[in-house]
Amino acid sequence: MPKGNYYIPAPTNEPVLTYAPGTAEREELKDAVASARKVEIDIPMFIGGKEVKTGKTIKMSPPYDHQHSLGQFHEGDASHVQQAIDAAMAAKQSWEDMAWEHRASIFLKAADLIAGPYRAKINAATMLSQSKNAFQAEIDAACEFIDFLRFNAAYMQDIYMEQPESAPGIWNRLEYRPLEGFVFAITPFNFTAIAGNLPAAPALMGNTVIWKPSYTQVYSAQVIMEVFKEAGLPDGVINLIFVDGPVAGDVVFKHKDFAGLHFTGSTGVFKHLWKTIGENIDLYRSYPRIVGETGGKDFVVAHESAHPQEVATGLVRGAFEFQGQKCSAASRAYIPSNIWSDVKDHMGAALSEISMGTPEDFTNFVNAVIDKKAFDKIAAYIDQAKKDSNVEVLFGGNYDDSVGYFIEPTVLLAKDPKYTTMCEEIFGPVLTIYVYEPKDFEATLELVDETSPYALTGAIFSRDREAIELAARRLRNSAGNFYINDKPTGAVVGQQPFGGARGSGTNDKAGASMNLLRWVSARTIKETFVPPKNYRYPFLDKD
Ligand code: NAD
Repeated sequence: MPKGNYYIPAPTNEPVLTYAPGTAEREELKDAVASARKVEIDIPMFIGGKEVKTGKTIKMSPPYDHQHSLGQFHEGDASHVQQAIDAAMAAKQSWEDMAWEHRASIFLKAADLIAGPYRAKINAATMLSQSKNAFQAEIDAACEFIDFLRFNAAYMQDIYMEQPESAPGIWNRLEYRPLEGFVFAITPFNFTAIAGNLPAAPALMGNTVIWKPSYTQVYSAQVIMEVFKEAGLPDGVINLIFVDGPVAGDVVFKHKDFAGLHFTGSTGVFKHLWKTIGENIDLYRSYPRIVGETGGKDFVVAHESAHPQEVATGLVRGAFEFQGQKCSAASRAYIPSNIWSDVKDHMGAALSEISMGTPEDFTNFVNAVIDKKAFDKIAAYIDQAKKDSNVEVLFGGNYDDSVGYFIEPTVLLAKDPKYTTMCEEIFGPVLTIYVYEPKDFEATLELVDETSPYALTGAIFSRDREAIELAARRLRNSAGNFYINDKPTGAVVGQQPFGGARGSGTNDKAGASMNLLRWVSARTIKETFVPPKNYRYPFLDKD
């Protein structure tokens, strides 16, 4: 038990290394990628601290070089889901009894391991398995993950310090209990940091977790598990299983001790999971916490006063970094006709310089999309656009999956503001632009608001303060993260808490105390020092 009030070291954002030619980090990362490429690894599940191999293996390849083998992982079935639940429940008591400063120390140590000895390894794994370039890997797998771990430890302390008033003679306390049961973390392919944070955040608050990553992120998930282990995370606190989503869901969502879902992924899957939980509500001991960050159809609106080159830069970076596979990626833009020609020229100039290829060659800005399924889906949108008369392919439009899943950054110009690619999440390097008349700015804001069911990120570019103010007001519910004169991607932990509403999720803001509050169930304790000995109140006395 603690014998002092301890304070978490004040967190600051992890500095982003440049990987510029001649830097030590560039050499170290290149070496890490080269040596990881040379070996094929065999990845087990981790259940109750044990490595579990089933013999049913699935191959892993870099998306940019699909004939190369990175090795394999062992797929589990329903029995492994049950084992993981049993391990989580067995570890629960001692984990939640551990003094909070020791839980915090484990995750702070994990942050330092990633910042130091594991930095190149986790970045290399993210480059190889998720096809991120060095910079995209650095801002995700290293910096954002480190920030999640350090800031969350500080937010946990802030939550614990939030205590009620006490009247004379009593002491009121709030005890932030972990949930009664286990948490199920389901993670997407596109961010190593999210994959690590979704199990880590509930665990930090004293919960034990079953973690099911995306199959295309298992390679870097394994490095996260290695880091957690080295940081001293006790066995069974986070159990990593590789099981098909519906198979895992069938066991987890029927279990009486299921206490919470921490999900990031597509809207359709989240809605399905929510319905399943609703159907099983009578089975559970408590109402499960349901936290989901889901899809987006993120917008950029330019006002007639916007600077064309700033708009073009925001669009190129916002739409095409990591091949548009960010939930926050700009995928629809509304540009006024007075600046359109300049914006188009600047975009064209930038796109003509951008090179596409393997992330192992650091000069490539654009790399491959994640897998064949994504490639086919994105290519189908482009093919359809080529056929449709009310849309024009302005830039890009080519794709090739002979070596890797490469799709050129593609810009479509739609005559119809409700054209399919203005409304649906494509999750690839496709940006659709609608050109409007400057006098229709206000009507265009309405259009932005009502065009998609999502409300994740969005941006306004303008040099006119009244236009900015109007856009911020009219688009109040259109985005959970709203940017003024900036691209809609690149949220930083501690600076822009991230999450969207409407079809984009429950908006519990990853990397903020709002999220951590979902993983505790507070108990109010009132202690009376000198209890009364007579039931009578003074008003009962006779006059
Ligand atoms: P996805 O929905 O295909 O998969 C996400 C996870 O859900 C994976 O682990 C997958 O195996 C699992 N899953 C799928 N069906 C399941 C089922 N029936 N039962 C249980 N688990 C199931 O998403 P993805 O392709 O990995 O990621 C891209 C999506 O994630 C995009 O829609 C993107 O917008 C979204 N995303 C959102 C945020 C955010 O913060 N809002 C962040 C990153 C990604």
